[in-house]
Amino acid sequence: MQPPALTLYNTLTRAKEPFSPLVEGEVRMYVCGPTVYDLSHLGHARKEVVFDVMVRYLRFRGFRVHYVRNITDVDDKIIRRAQETGVSWKQIAREFEQAFRDDMEALGVARPDHEPRATETIEEMQELIRDLLDRQFAYVSEGSVYFSVEASRDYGKLSHRNTEELVAGARIEVNESKKNPLDFALWKASKQGEPSWPSPWGDGRPGWHIECSAMSRKFLGETLDIHGGGVDLIFPHHENEIAQSEAATGKPFSRWWVHNGLLTVEKEKMAKSLGNYITIRDALRELHPETLRMFFLSHHYRSPVDFSKEAVARTKKNLDYFYNTLLRIQEVCGKETGPPRDELEGESRAALEEGLAPDALEAMRGVTERFQAEMDDDFNTAGALGELFRAATVLNRWMDGADPGRSERGERVLRAFRRELKEIGEVLGLFHEDPLPWFRQAGTPGEAAGTGLSDETIEALTAERERARKAKDWATADRIRDELGSQGIVLEDTPRGTRWKRTT
Ligand SMILES: [Zn+2]
Repeated sequence: MQPPALTLYNTLTRAKEPFSPLVEGEVRMYVCGPTVYDLSHLGHARKEVVFDVMVRYLRFRGFRVHYVRNITDVDDKIIRRAQETGVSWKQIAREFEQAFRDDMEALGVARPDHEPRATETIEEMQELIRDLLDRQFAYVSEGSVYFSVEASRDYGKLSHRNTEELVAGARIEVNESKKNPLDFALWKASKQGEPSWPSPWGDGRPGWHIECSAMSRKFLGETLDIHGGGVDLIFPHHENEIAQSEAATGKPFSRWWVHNGLLTVEKEKMAKSLGNYITIRDALRELHPETLRMFFLSHHYRSPVDFSKEAVARTKKNLDYFYNTLLRIQEVCGKETGPPRDELEGESRAALEEGLAPDALEAMRGVTERFQAEMDDDFNTAGALGELFRAATVLNRWMDGADPGRSERGERVLRAFRRELKEIGEVLGLFHEDPLPWFRQAGTPGEAAGTGLSDETIEALTAERERARKAKDWATADRIRDELGSQGIVLEDTPRGTRWKRTT
């Protein structure tokens, strides 16, 4: 049977389409990167996690992915920040580029294959501008070069609006040297004190849009398979990228346009003036990176997401549930990894059936396939997490009722499930921690301990309570439990003894 195809929503056609790259087995993917003038916030974090998981999943699916994400290191905002702070624009750009990299590393976002800086692609941009001038899609005016929107046949095709609507709807800067208000700068004549490079049109600097067209052509060729970015980039940035790239090459620029939805904080747009502007590093002071990743992935990438304390607390509970499942499996099977999936498929299905309740077997069977079916449906990470949750629930129920450690087959099932959960975790960037420390770390990494009790003291008190229980001294046992409880330590009695967890 042919496996079902991966389908991917395309902003260009406004439809989900079966995904097939131009070259079989290879995906050329470009995503607009940060403008490095300030610390990145939660909206950036969401976007990077979304595309990180797409790339990982495409690789998991067997595609060779060539992934490029640019660094915009020359731009009005960087220049303004430099003027405000009295620091050179280059220093601002390098500082916040490093901050962005550090944030991505903390979030577990893998580095793209290429991460070109705009300032290192000036030559390619000028080449592209020359092509556009030669083909009469651009004109020179007062030392700047503009793209002529009128010369473009299908301008507006990505945002699904015609040029009149765009002129009426967009906030467009009045500029005397442009022929049409929608025309945009490919090259800007530099003002006094601004960074500049020599060019055939005079000293100047590149416009923003041209860099992505030049960089994607340099590293990935003339036609991309996937071009991504936030939904806020559709107009004008991506519309302009398409117009200039297709005018220069006469070929389709990108076959799929993929856009992630935006993020609000407590139902409001994030803004420094509203005091709800949360940088990635601030968020990670209170949340484990996996909690943040799971929060983003619990929503479809195209949907808007509202970040709130309650929503994040729910996510943390869900993530705890998976870690608790892993902890229980570890208590039964130790840390050994399970048999590979195919081995399990071939040799021991029948054996498994003997050792397991039918519903647990069903949950265990094909969890990766069900994960894949959800992800194949336009990267439905929320559905995929739902499948994992269902499987874990059934296994937990089975563990509640049976003593899985008694049968070797039971252990094999648990180990196999853990292996699959870990493999899927590689795609989502989750479940990397050891389950026991997960519950014993005080608060979150980087935060001060939520309780004054050391691990040793808790162990000693737990042992004391164990002895009291054996002696049927229930009063002492209860007192110790309450004492620990008041310090945020919960005790869980299991057939294998008592385990403790921190809850604060
Ligand atoms: Zn771009």
